Order: sequence, then C-alpha cells, then structure tokens
Amino acid sequence: MIKITLPDGSVKEFPKNSTPMDVAKSISEGLARNVISASFNGTTVETATPLTTDGNLTLFTWNDAAGKKAFWHSSAHVLAQALEELYPGVKLTIGPAIDNGFYYDVDPGDQSISEKDFPAIEKKMLDIARGKYDYRMRSVTKAEALDYYKKQHNEYKVELIENLEDGTITFCDHSTFSDLCRGGHIPNTGIIKAVKLLNTAGAYWRGNENNKQLTRIYGISFPKQKELTEYLHLLEEAKKRDHRKLGKELELFTFSPKVGQGLPLWLPKGAALRERLENFLKKAQKKAGYEQVVSPHIGQKELYVTSGHYAKYGEDSFQPIHTPHEGEEFLLKPMNCPHHCEIYNARPWSYKELPKRYAEFGTVYRYEQSGELHGLTRVRGFTQDDAHIFCTPDQLDAEFKNVIDLVLYVFGSLGFENFTAQVSLRDPENPGKYIGSNENWEKAEQAIINAAKEKGLNYVIETGEAAFYGPKLDFMVKDALGRSWQLGTIQVDYNLPERFDLSYKGSDNELHRPVMIHRAPFGSIERFVAILLEHTAGNFPLWLMPDQAIILSISEKYEKYAEKVLNLLENYEIRALIDNRNETIGKKIREAEMNKIPYMLIVGENEEKEGTISVRKHGEGDLGAITVDAFAKIVEEEINRTLKQF
Ligand SMILES: [Zn+2]
Ligand SMILES: [Zn+2]
Repeated sequence: MIKITLPDGSVKEFPKNSTPMDVAKSISEGLARNVISASFNGTTVETATPLTTDGNLTLFTWNDAAGKKAFWHSSAHVLAQALEELYPGVKLTIGPAIDNGFYYDVDPGDQSISEKDFPAIEKKMLDIARGKYDYRMRSVTKAEALDYYKKQHNEYKVELIENLEDGTITFCDHSTFSDLCRGGHIPNTGIIKAVKLLNTAGAYWRGNENNKQLTRIYGISFPKQKELTEYLHLLEEAKKRDHRKLGKELELFTFSPKVGQGLPLWLPKGAALRERLENFLKKAQKKAGYEQVVSPHIGQKELYVTSGHYAKYGEDSFQPIHTPHEGEEFLLKPMNCPHHCEIYNARPWSYKELPKRYAEFGTVYRYEQSGELHGLTRVRGFTQDDAHIFCTPDQLDAEFKNVIDLVLYVFGSLGFENFTAQVSLRDPENPGKYIGSNENWEKAEQAIINAAKEKGLNYVIETGEAAFYGPKLDFMVKDALGRSWQLGTIQVDYNLPERFDLSYKGSDNELHRPVMIHRAPFGSIERFVAILLEHTAGNFPLWLMPDQAIILSISEKYEKYAEKVLNLLENYEIRALIDNRNETIGKKIREAEMNKIPYMLIVGENEEKEGTISVRKHGEGDLGAITVDAFAKIVEEEINRTLKQF
C-alpha cells in the first residue's frame, strides 16, 4: 500500500500502482469524469501513471491552469497528427501549450499551409478526437528515438534528441501517432470537443533568424462547443476594443514612420487626456507628501554605469550620443531613478527630514526590437508616473501603506475594481543572492505583508520572486473582458542607495543608508491609456473624457442658443462642443454615439423657448428636457461617484 496526501491535507491508502484516476474515482464519480491531469510530488504526471511511492497528489480539471495546459498540449498532438495525415512529409518540430491555446511549428517542405486550409485541418482534428484514443507514454532509448526521426528525415527532432540524456527520453502515442514528449496529457482525445485554428505565423527554428523559417499554426480547443463560442465572442469584443483602433477613432494618438517606430505622437485630445491623468495624480501625490522634480532626457554614461543600468540596458540599448568637441558620452535615460538619487545627493539630510518623496512624469527610452513593438503597450519611448521615496528602515511600514492607499485611489477613480496583488519575497534557500542586510530584508518584507493585510488587498505571496535588490508588490488588474494586465508596482531597493552612496544623519549622529522605494501606480502613461482604452472600450470615466458633452442643434436657426448653452457649460467647467452642421439630428446623434461622447444636448425651438436642453446619454437614451444648471448637477454627481477626494 502507498499513502497519498491530497491538497486538503487528508491522507488515504491505496494499493501500489494505483493511478491518479483511481484516486479520483475513490473520491467521487463526478471528479473522475472531470479530472484531466495531475501532479505528483510537484511533477506533472499522466492520470494513468501508476504511483509507486507515498506522496502528494493534486488532481486538475479544466478549471485549473494546469488542467488547461494539459488539454492544450494534448490538442497540439492532435493537430500534429492531422497535419501528418493531410500533408505527408511535413516535419514536426515543437508544439507547446501557451496562455490561450497551443501552437505547433512545422516545416511543410515544398507544401504550404495557410489559413484557408484551416477548416479541413479542424475537421480532421475533430475526427481524430472522436476516436477517443488514450494518450500513452512510452520510454525509448536515445538510439530508438534517433532512428525513428532519422527515418522520417526530421532533422529538427534529431537535433532535440541529441541534446537529451539517454534514459530520460519518452514518446507519447495516441491512435497511430507518436511524438517526442515529456508528458502531461489528458486521458484521451475524446475530451476535446471543439477546435479552432486561429492563425499562422513565420517562426525561426529555435527562435534564431539564421535558421530555417517554419510555419507556426496557432489554435485553441475546448471541452465544450459553448466555451469555444464564448471565446470567439471574446476575441471579437477584444478586436473592437483594440486600443490601436480606438486610439485612432477617438483621435488620441498616432504613429509616424518618419518619426520612428515605437514612438507615439499624442494628438491634442490624447495630450489633454494625459494632462488630466497627470494632474489627477499630481494632486493626490501632493496631498500624500510628494514633491515634483524634473530631470533631463539624457545622462552621462557614467551615471548609468554607477546605477548598474548600463550593464543591463547599455549594450543592447540605444547608441551613445557624443558631444562634438568635448568627448563626452551621453545616453538616453532608460530609468529616472539614477537622476533622482543625485537629486537626493544634492545636500545632506537628517533623519528628521525623511522621508523625501520625489515624483516626476519622466520620459524614458528603451530599445525594443521592431517586431516586439505593439501600439502603446510596447514602445521605445514612454513616460513613467515615477516617484522615489527615500526613507529610514523604520519608515518603510508607513510608506508602504501610504503608497498602497494612493494606488487603490488611482484604480478606484478609473473604474478598475477587479485586481490582485503579488508580494515577491526572497528565496530563503539562497540568501547569498541578495544585497542588503538580513535585518533590513526582514523589515521590508514584513512591512509589505503588513501593509497588504491591513489594506485588505487580495494578495498572493511568491517566495523567491524578489529582485536581488529588494522585495516588491505588484498589482494585476482584470479588465472588462477578464484579461489580466500588470499595472502599478512598488519596489524596495537596497542597491541604488549603496551604489550612489546615499546617506542621512541618524539620531545617533552617525551616517546611515536610506532605503529607496520605486513606485508607479500607472506604470507608464502610454501602457495605462492602452489598458484603460481596452477596459472601457473608450467610454472613460466622465471626469477623464476628452469631450463630456456635445450640443446638437436641430437647425442653423438655433446656433445662437447653442453658443449660449456652451458658455453656460464652460462656466461649470464642462468640456463640450457644438455640432452646428446642416445635417439631420438623427445623423448627428449617431455620430456622437460613435464618438462615445457621454452626453448629447439637443437644442431646438422648444428648448430655446423654455431655456432648456434635451439630454441624451450615450448608450442609454433620453433623459428629457432640463435646464443647464440641472444638467451640471447630473455631471457633478456622476464625477463625484468615481472621482473621490484623496
Ligand atoms: Zn505530449
Ligand atoms: Zn525607479
């Protein structure tokens, strides 16, 4: 008999060679039906793997990330089989599961596989799936494995196998198909009920552009047709919300090949939006005790050598800028921190004056390969809502709470309600990896955990995920489509104060090192605006909207009255514009709806006579005829609901 410990801590005895599926059956028939993969003592196993020792067993269903991974990995095998059957001679390379689905990289030889072939491949895959073939793992010798793929003239698999140790090589078989594989499958192909191939892409073998370009086929699969339908709907929705598309339609930003790739140009409406975001944060930061500073866009190479950023960004980064006569060497700044360290260093400090909190909307530049650039989320120049706090170790606790309050305020004011936090701590097994004293790390880690607890964050602790220079707290938000985005971060740093020889005079009259905290609630303005666009589909909170209202005149006769309404709105600081064109009111309304303007104010004969406006709300419809004063109240109330005082 062997003792199996389940995640809830319960221990059960089973005959030796029982499988994870046997264990599932002993718990309930329902679980046995749903379990699709398992891990034993932390290693992925098949649900049919005989267990021979005591150990910890976790069973996964479709609802677990590990279950989905096994599902999609197994689906990649089915795709490979379908390709082999439809394209004889196709050479398989690698086919992993990814975050949403799977892909397989293949060398089709002189055949070509394109998206128009997808229906036939999908049909073949479903035919195979319906066969309910078991996935079976099989150990092979290195010689057998090499022989198998040499016969197929598959140099890719041969290369993979040559790098493996004899005795560790396994194949996975299902139906008539075999593939080199480490394992981690669902019980049989029959569980795959819905398949969709999504797109093809070129991919170099082993990611090296000197190698042959392969055809990558992306797909996704589900245990229920309904789930595929929902997923495709989500994809459609995501396309509609693509920030690159919305940014153009709403005239927020653009890119110019002349200016350069990855360098966003903010149009007037976008620039005004940025300004509102910046002012919003500046106002809250002022209350939270921050001081604004300004630093240049370039710095001497020596600055970044001192900070260590040169070693990290220098070589692959932008080229140095040389001055014509004096032999100086500058770099575009990749980070604001080194500049802020030197601002701190401008004069001596006493512990009584700390913490110092320096904030700057600092634009930084980092080289990204052109293929990696994506809208506003991956750019080469961006503005961080950066700040650095210099404090004593004893002040960390209070500072962390202060920063979390600010981050929560930012999220709340912008309509992000669904977020989680990750606390990254040291790896206790590997203390030599980290800079700074044990005592200070203890203090900092405790400060983060205390603050996260006290502020009621929904957080997870990741041991071993801290940077070498300090522990951190990251915020992940879920957008309206359930996609996760990494947003603000709060990072403790023991490294830069050391490198820049920062100090303060303590109560003992001795010099001490301050602790530095880097923090950015938005992360970068560019990325944040992109996420906000995709989250809200361009329907920003009213306080942030470029145009809050549009006055639509029924005909040119009411132009004067429209102007009067606009003046009144301006007195209330409501951002509005007039549509006086000689168009039908129906057309004007449709366009205003398309432009996502929150309020449409219709003015015609009745309104002019009564001194009112007929209000229509975006996406909701008529609110009736009211005075401008009453409308201003509605606007004020709506703004106050989201934008609270910090
Ligand atoms: Zn496999
Ligand atoms: Zn920093």
